[in-house]
Amino acid sequence: MTVVGAPVVAPGLTPEERLLQQTARDFARKEIAPGAAARDEEERYDRALFIRMGELGLTAVPFPESVGGAGFGYRAWTLVMEEIAYADMAMAVSLSVHILSQYPVVDWGTPDQKERWLPAMLAGEALGAFALTEPGAGSDAAALRLQADRVGPAGAPTGYRLRGTKIWITNAIEAERYLVFGTVDRTRGSAGITAFLVEGGMPGFSFGRRERKLGIRSDTASELIFDGAEVPVANRLGEEGQGYRIALSALGEGRISIAAACVGLAQAALDAAALHLTERKAFGGRLSDQQGLRFMLAEMAQKVAAARALTRAAAEAKDRGEPIAEASSLAKWTASDAAMSVTTDAVQLFGGSGYSREFPVERMMRDAKGAQIYEGTNQIHRLIVAEHLLKRVTDGA
Ligand SMILES: Cc1cc2nc3c(=O)[nH]c(=O)nc-3n(C[C@H](O)[C@H](O)[C@H](O)COP(=O)(O)OP(=O)(O)OC[C@H]3O[C@@H](n4cnc5c(N)ncnc54)[C@H](O)[C@@H]3O)c2cc1C
Repeated sequence: MTVVGAPVVAPGLTPEERLLQQTARDFARKEIAPGAAARDEEERYDRALFIRMGELGLTAVPFPESVGGAGFGYRAWTLVMEEIAYADMAMAVSLSVHILSQYPVVDWGTPDQKERWLPAMLAGEALGAFALTEPGAGSDAAALRLQADRVGPAGAPTGYRLRGTKIWITNAIEAERYLVFGTVDRTRGSAGITAFLVEGGMPGFSFGRRERKLGIRSDTASELIFDGAEVPVANRLGEEGQGYRIALSALGEGRISIAAACVGLAQAALDAAALHLTERKAFGGRLSDQQGLRFMLAEMAQKVAAARALTRAAAEAKDRGEPIAEASSLAKWTASDAAMSVTTDAVQLFGGSGYSREFPVERMMRDAKGAQIYEGTNQIHRLIVAEHLLKRVTDGA
C-alpha cells in the first residue's frame, strides 16, 4: 500500500531548512520506502542507499562547516531523521548511529584525527559504528570490561592492545569506522574508560554473532570481538579516562536524533491508519465515520505532536549550545513511547490486515519497540529526568 505524505507542521523553519526537508522527503519516499519491507524480510542492508545519502549531502547535515560539514545544525538534522524514518526506521537508525559515531571526533578529536577520520564519513563513503555495550554492561555502561592494555614504554604508550567483546553494535558488519570504548583500569570504574578510533579489518578485530532482532532487521547489528587488536596512540580519542564523558555527551546528541526518527515512524503509522479508515467500509459507511475511531486517531496525532515538540525543543537547545542531557532524555523517552503506542494502535485500526506482513504497520510496530531500549532505556531516561528535577529542587535553582 502507499503511505501518504505527512503534513509539514514546522513553523519557524528557514527556507534552507524547508529545502533540506523536501530533499530528504523526496529521496526517502522515492528511493528508501519502496524496498523497506523486502529489506526487513531478507535482513539485508542496502549500502547503495547510504551512498546516495552521501551524494545528496545528507550525511554531512548536522556538522559545522569548520570540519567539512554542511553547517545546518541539529534542528535541521531532526527534519532529515524524521523523513528517513517515515520511509524506513531501520535506515534511520543506521544513519543516526553513523552520525553518533562522529560527534565525539568533532568535539574531542585532534586536528589530525578530524582530518583522517571525518571526510570519508561526512561524504557517506565510510560507515560508522558506536561500540559501548557489552554482555555485562548495558544500562550500567561504567561496568564495561573491554581491556585496553598500554603498549610501549611506561608513561609514553605507543598504542593500546584491545581484548574483549561488544554486543548489539548497530551497523557492525557494514561499517569501516568504529568508535570503541575500553578501560585502561577496570578497578577505576568510569574513570578508567577510554575511547578509541578503530578501523575495520585490522588484525585482532572480528565479528561474532549477528543479532537476531525483532525489528529494524535490515541493520547488521552484531558482536565485535577484540582479541589483541593493537590501536596506535594516535587513535586514542581524548585522554585516558575521558571515555565515559565522551560517550555520555555523544549519547545526548544521539537521543535527539533517535527521538526525531521515532516521530517520523509514528507519523507514518498514523498516516497509514488514517488512510485505511477512509478506505475501509463497514456497517454501511466508512470506518473513518466512526466517532470512536476518530478519537483514536486524534489521540495518536496528539502523541506525535507532543513528541515532535519536545524533540524540536531539545534540538534547538543543542543549537544554542545549552546543556541537553535532560531535554534529550525527555524527547527520546516521549518520542519512543509515542512511536510504540501509535504503531500498536495503527495495527489495531487495520484489523486483521494490521497483523499481516502484507501491510507495513506490523513492521513499524516491531521497529518502534527497540527505540524504547537503545540509546538508554526509557527507565534510565526517567532516572536522568528525575535527577535533574531533584537537583533543581535541592539547589533552589
Ligand atoms: C536494536 C538495538 C540496537 C543497539 N545498538 C547499539 C549500538 O549501536 N551500540 C551500543 O553500544 N549499544 C547498542 N545497543 C545496546 C543498548 O544500548 C542496550 O541494550 C541498552 O543500553 C540496555 O542495556 P541491556 O540490554 O544490558 O539491558 P539492562 O541494562 O540489563 O536492563 C534490563 C532492564 O532493566 C532496566 N534497568 C537497568 N538498570 C536500571 C535501573 N538502575 N533502574 C531502573 N531500571 C533499570 C532496563 O531499563 C531494562 O528494562 C542496542 C540495542 C538494541 C536493542
